Amino acid sequence: MQELLSEIAKVAEASPDKGEVATYIPELAGVNPDQFGIAVAFEDGRLLTAGDAEVPFSIQSVSKVFALALALGRVGDQLWYRVGREPSGLSFDSILLLEREDGIPRNPFINAGALVTTDTYLAGSNPREALGELLGFIRAAADDDSIHINENVAQSELTTGHRNFSLAHYLASCGNLRSSVDKVLGTSCHQCGIEMSCRQLAMAGRFLIESANMPPLVAALRRRRINAMMMTCGHYDGSGDFAFRVGLPGKSGVGGGILVIAPGRASIAVWSPGLNRYGNSKLGTEAMEMFAKRTGWSVFG
Ligand code: GLN
Repeated sequence: MQELLSEIAKVAEASPDKGEVATYIPELAGVNPDQFGIAVAFEDGRLLTAGDAEVPFSIQSVSKVFALALALGRVGDQLWYRVGREPSGLSFDSILLLEREDGIPRNPFINAGALVTTDTYLAGSNPREALGELLGFIRAAADDDSIHINENVAQSELTTGHRNFSLAHYLASCGNLRSSVDKVLGTSCHQCGIEMSCRQLAMAGRFLIESANMPPLVAALRRRRINAMMMTCGHYDGSGDFAFRVGLPGKSGVGGGILVIAPGRASIAVWSPGLNRYGNSKLGTEAMEMFAKRTGWSVFG
C-alpha cells in the first residue's frame, strides 16, 4: 500500500494539467497548485501517507460532513424537514432551485443546504460556542487538538461571499433560518476556513468507517446515511462522475481537499489545489480513481 501511495503521488506530481485553483476566495487564489498529498487511515489504526500529506489546507466544503453530523446530533431526523436528500445536478453555489422548492435546499452539501445545517447547530448558542463545538467534534474524531480555523481565509470569504449571503437571505425570506443572516454567514465562513493536513483529515474521517476500533461519535445508521449523502451529493454536479470513477463516498472542497470513505476499511484524504470544471480537485479525483482501481475497493463489491 505504501508503494501504491508513493506511485500515486509521483503520477500526480508529473501531471501536466493540474486544474485551476479557486480564485473567488482571494485568500485561496495564492495557493501553489504544485502540491499533492494523500493519507490513508485504516480501521485498525495504521496510517500511511505520501506527498505533501503534512501541509495544512483550507478544507472548505469538506467541513459540511462534520457540520451535518453535528446538526443531526442536535435535532436528529427533524433536520430533513428543512433540507432535502437529493442531488441537485447544479453547481455548489446555485440558487436556481431555491425559489422553485420554497427555500428547502436539495441537500446538505450544496452551499444553500450547508447554510441550513450550520443554522441548525448554531441554534440556541452563539457563533463562538457553535464553532467551538464543531472544532471539538473534529478534534475528537482526529484525536488532534491542534486543528484550528484560519482567520484570514474566514475573513476573506466573509468580505467577498455575496453569493452565499444571497442564498442565506433567500432562505431567511422563506423562513428557513433561525439565526440572523450575519450570524449564519459568520459561522459558515469560519467553518469553511478550518485548516487541516491530509493526515489530520484522514484521521478525522475515521468516524465514518465501520469499525470496532473507531471512536463511536455517531450511531451506525447515521454513519451509513452520511456516507449515502456523500456518495450521491458530495461532489455536486460531479457526483455521478465521482461515483462512476471511484465508487466510494466522498466529499470535496474548493480548497482542493477530498475526504473519501471506504466503509469497513479506511478513511482517505487527498489534496491538490487545482480544480476541475465542477470545482472538485482535479488531481485528487484522478488519484482516487487510480487508488480505487488498484486496491479494488468499491462499495459496489
Ligand atoms: N466556502 C466555499 C463557498 O462558499 C465552499 C464551497 C466549496 O468548497 N465547494 O463557496
